[in-house]
Amino acid sequence: MGIARPKTLHDLVKLNAHLRITCQVRGCGRSAVYEAKGLVGYFLARGWNLAWEAAPSRFRCDACGQRQARLSLEPIKVPIVPPPPEPTERDHKAEIRRRRG
Ligand SMILES: [Zn+2]
Repeated sequence: MGIARPKTLHDLVKLNAHLRITCQVRGCGRSAVYEAKGLVGYFLARGWNLAWEAAPSRFRCDACGQRQARLSLEPIKVPIVPPPPEPTERDHKAEIRRRRG
């Protein structure tokens, strides 16, 4: 894969990726995907370290209860649709003129 390895959870947002957490406990292997922006906000609100190496200890497996998470990138498959462009100042003035007649 040609995706750069992130240094912090913040990089996920820049890389346009979600975070996949996979439990490494033998026989468990539970996996979940987190939305990067929401996750960064969650960490920041608690003053937690956003470093890639520090983050796994924050995740406790909800299946087996162990803290043996492995972090990986999950590409966002559906691209974010940009919002429609705002009308420009000029369009706005033209609209006002049109309404006045
Ligand atoms: Zn587990």
